[in-house]
Amino acid sequence: MQQLYILTAKYRVAVRVRPLTDNEKQHFQHNAIKFIPNNQQQIVLDGDRSFTFDYVYPPTANQNDVYSTCVIPLLNKFMEGYNSTILAYGQTGSGKTYSMGIGLDSVMNAVNEGIVPRFIHSLFQGLNAKKSPNYSFQVCVSFLELHNEDLVDLLCPSAVKRSGYVSNLTIREDSQGNICWSGVKEEVVTSPNELMGFLQKGSIARTTASTDMNNTSSRSHAIFSVILKQEYIISSDTDDSVGDPTTNKIHRSPSDQTLVSNSSTPHVKKLSSKFHFVDLAGSERLKRTNAVGDRAKEGISINTGLLALGNVISALGDESRRVSHIPYRDSKLTRLLQDSLGGNSQTLMLACASPSDSNITETLNTLKYANRARNIRNRVIINQE
Ligand code: ADP
Repeated sequence: MQQLYILTAKYRVAVRVRPLTDNEKQHFQHNAIKFIPNNQQQIVLDGDRSFTFDYVYPPTANQNDVYSTCVIPLLNKFMEGYNSTILAYGQTGSGKTYSMGIGLDSVMNAVNEGIVPRFIHSLFQGLNAKKSPNYSFQVCVSFLELHNEDLVDLLCPSAVKRSGYVSNLTIREDSQGNICWSGVKEEVVTSPNELMGFLQKGSIARTTASTDMNNTSSRSHAIFSVILKQEYIISSDTDDSVGDPTTNKIHRSPSDQTLVSNSSTPHVKKLSSKFHFVDLAGSERLKRTNAVGDRAKEGISINTGLLALGNVISALGDESRRVSHIPYRDSKLTRLLQDSLGGNSQTLMLACASPSDSNITETLNTLKYANRARNIRNRVIINQE
């Protein structure tokens, strides 16, 4: 079998501008950001700085608009065996946690539910609909927080007491380039309610700290991961590309591990995929937060993780491949997500922004950062017989 590489499946980039807060309505102008009528891809800052993204959501867009347009396609690919990642990026208070639904208020009414709770319900609906004697699945979850380059396992009870730093975590790359985390608690779940329970447990445990910009803003990256293992028994006389969304004749999904491919006997097709939902720490410049002491240390460290992520994105987006080295190892964040940021993975960057003119500098920085991700075209492997 010959392996060919093509450049495709570029990153999707979405920008969401949240509604004005009461405080912003009272005290600040909000004229600098403009949306183009009947154009859902363009956003203009200060009259002349125009950016084009895959999706642009104005303040009137609701949670379902975001979920149905940019997350459902990723969910479908995830169920076909592709690793998927959503990175929520933006300054503190811009709506990352609200959009992702990984906050303390993740138990919200149905209208306000964010991406992760919606995903959890759709995932189990989709998996249960596939149930048959020839199909089985297992769903596992882990929930980590990266704080000052220290990892906290949010599903480990001691993390609640802030003593649960994952000291024995090791990150290993297997022969197929998959990144394996060991020492992280992975819980098996069998229902959406159970998975929601772990989302809430981890959200409560999540470390938060105040800054001048938002009293309860998180100064950490949160990574909520859902791992899906699927098994199909393909009978001898069935063309395994028919009625099976996990494969087609030319392009097998990346985790496809068909055990026996002898056409005269039944064989087992195994798929394994992971979906990382990453609520990144606030991207604001440290000097704006007036942080001192420990808080300043956090700010510097957070920016290191985001800087490393930005460098990985730039290297992946260099189409000429002048940059052959992708600096995944420069931070724990990029190392943990290594196999979900490039290669066969599906990645969405959700850049969140405030509508207020008082935040326009940060908004411009957010759009520039997101714009870099638009250049990325991942390498997809095609197995040719
Ligand atoms: P971040 O995670 O970026 O620090 P949050 O998600 O905590 O920001 O949002 C800050 C505040 O704005 C929260 O009170 C949140 O409920 C509110 N908010 C954010 N985005 C929206 C939105 N699209 N619609 C309504 N409220 C929002």
